Amino acid sequence: CGIVGYIGENQAVPVLLNGLSKLEYRGYDSAGISVYHDGIHTIKVKGKLAGLREKVEKDDKKSSHIGIGHTRWATHGVPNEINSHPHNSQNGKISVVHNGIIENYLELKNMLIEKGYTFKSETDTEVVAQLFEDLYDGDMVSTTRKLLEKIRGAYALGIMCTDHPDILVAVRKDCPLLIGLGKGENYIASDIPALLEYTRDYYLLETNEIAVLKNDGVKLYDINGKEIKKEVYHVTWDI
Ligand code: GLU
Repeated sequence: CGIVGYIGENQAVPVLLNGLSKLEYRGYDSAGISVYHDGIHTIKVKGKLAGLREKVEKDDKKSSHIGIGHTRWATHGVPNEINSHPHNSQNGKISVVHNGIIENYLELKNMLIEKGYTFKSETDTEVVAQLFEDLYDGDMVSTTRKLLEKIRGAYALGIMCTDHPDILVAVRKDCPLLIGLGKGENYIASDIPALLEYTRDYYLLETNEIAVLKNDGVKLYDINGKEIKKEVYHVTWDI
């Protein structure tokens, strides 16, 4: 189970695949990525990263400057392609990768079904994507704050939205997620080895701090939407 995300001047896909390969040691049963290419474009497989790499290579919509990637360790729903991440919302505007467990997912799922949402997967994660769509108010930080008020459990989340192809959002609670800082590009990942060949500078996200990544910088907000400043953690060791 691992997460990698990229936004920047270069191609997202090579960073996502390379980063995920560095997180393989954490174990996984399936893998996938979403990029922005005339809308959200998602490619996923059951099984190994080699299978994902093959599928991505054949794909002609992989060129993108933003993307999220995931290796899944199934907790809710069997390991198969449909249940693998990323999960997208019904209108196709929101794509989400998630590590952890949303404890109240069933309650939220039933509420969304009553509102007319239909679900494709058996996962707790799809609920996050649909709920984000339902709560969406045009602003990524304010919608993320509303989401955090509703979900309970453990999560590291990477979220992208077609209305904001220049923004990647990251947030975490009881699951690891850090922000890698580059020049003209920024990253998210579950662990430093995923990004060490790209950057040595990181923000270590605390519970429910919201990170908004753009090409040229990263802004951090607390759960009340107030911008916060954080020290950069500099990695001095090698793998
Ligand atoms: N609970 C989610 C699922 O089963 C995420 C699992 C993970 O951390 O990889 O899809």
